[in-house]
Amino acid sequence: MSVSFDILNPATEELVQTIDLAGLDQTDAAIERAAAAFESWRNVAPADRALLLRRFAAAVDADLENLARLEVLNAGHTIGNARWEAGNVRDVLNYYSGAPERHFGRQIPVPGGVNLTFHEPLGVVGVIVPWNFPMPIAAWGFAPALAAGNTVVLKPAELTPLTAIRLGELALQAGLPEGVLQIIPGKGSLVGERFVTHPLVRKVVFTGSTGVGKRIMAGCAGQIKPVTLELGGKSANIIFADADLEQAAAAAPGGVFDNSGQDCCARSRILVQKSVYEKFLGLLEPAIHAVTVGDPADEDTVMGPLISAKQLETVSSFVPAGAPVLFQGTAPQGRGFWFPPTVLAPVDFDAPAYREEIFGPVVVVVPFEDEADAVRMANDSVYGLSGSIWTQNAGKALRVARGVEAGNLSVNSHSSVRYATPFGGFKQSGLGRELGPDALDAFTETKNVFIAT
Ligand code: NAD
Repeated sequence: MSVSFDILNPATEELVQTIDLAGLDQTDAAIERAAAAFESWRNVAPADRALLLRRFAAAVDADLENLARLEVLNAGHTIGNARWEAGNVRDVLNYYSGAPERHFGRQIPVPGGVNLTFHEPLGVVGVIVPWNFPMPIAAWGFAPALAAGNTVVLKPAELTPLTAIRLGELALQAGLPEGVLQIIPGKGSLVGERFVTHPLVRKVVFTGSTGVGKRIMAGCAGQIKPVTLELGGKSANIIFADADLEQAAAAAPGGVFDNSGQDCCARSRILVQKSVYEKFLGLLEPAIHAVTVGDPADEDTVMGPLISAKQLETVSSFVPAGAPVLFQGTAPQGRGFWFPPTVLAPVDFDAPAYREEIFGPVVVVVPFEDEADAVRMANDSVYGLSGSIWTQNAGKALRVARGVEAGNLSVNSHSSVRYATPFGGFKQSGLGRELGPDALDAFTETKNVFIAT
């Protein structure tokens, strides 16, 4: 029996498309096709594999505006963000197209012979993608996996399969052989779980909630199947008294409200040194009101809607009647899943808005005393994904960056992701690293060969 899923435009609640979801039989058939394709894909000459990835990147580039418009429609991303996201897929593919010819093994001196190491591909890699950044997160999994010689089955989130399906078409159009990259829209509890339990899937890359991540890790233990996990976050934006406060306040909304706060790296706790707390709030207020919320297809829009009615309900629960709303922006009324940019202060340290990932445009602002206090507060979380530090003292910036238990820190900016540098979380924010030069190691096994001379 085939099941379908209605894709709604989050800005209007209008039906965009109805998608057939894969069942177990289709999933198993796709995994078997991927396993068959692996035998030839791993043996494609390195230069030819590189060329195919570059052609795939060029196909994405040629389709960039279409992909971006599709994401505006499906996920409510602003058009500016969506163009960046499609461009990121192209860039990640180009970056890893350099890998097939450069993923060297080693020759290690040993007595009695020659010792060589090889990076062998794993086989079929299952990539499970969330709805918040459907395009980039898919590419961070499939691009290095394919470059290393694996084949990929990819499950997009139920809510946002359209760009992933299009990327699958572009891969074929670019000349990647059938079965090398397959997109399987379906339920997490069915298709995603099958990636965990099917013995031909040799690795799972999962991005999503920490709860589901734990379940996947436990499931993979049954076959000692390697996993990469990119999970939730509750990152701190630490602002010291000696920072350029105007710049820090102007940038703070972007650090948390980008993608309507549906960002695992959202700096949803702003920690401000007590001596400048009031001054900072005075500068923050106009920056919050400058966040224009509206039609994501409009070039001037800064923030679009939330992804779904369910997400709107979740986010709203963090701002109940009587919540300490210090400032609030505006959002469209009527149809669509809208929530205005919201600043809460003062909040208790045990308040859900202070402790839990909100995944919406809600931020708390809290004062701290000194450097030690700031680091302690930033680390007082089960998560450790990213964070920002604002100060003009380079020594302090580095000390605090080393002290914060998180995988991705930025000083005097809110940058988290660059395709050439490693990305991932400490503590319950994840396991392993994506992107950068070392991601290939997560998609290969090291083989050691000794030849007696
Ligand atoms: P989710 O965990 O509900 O779903 C993520 C994906 O997993 C979806 O494709 C879903 O269908 C699938 N899934 C659900 N149940 C499954 C199961 N039992 N077995 C296998 N797959 C299953 O998360 P979401 O609501 O889509 O995404 C939001 C979460 O993702 C947030 O917590 C956010 O922080 C996190 N996230 C993390 C990063 C990161 O890089 N660290 C990036 C983006 C999102």
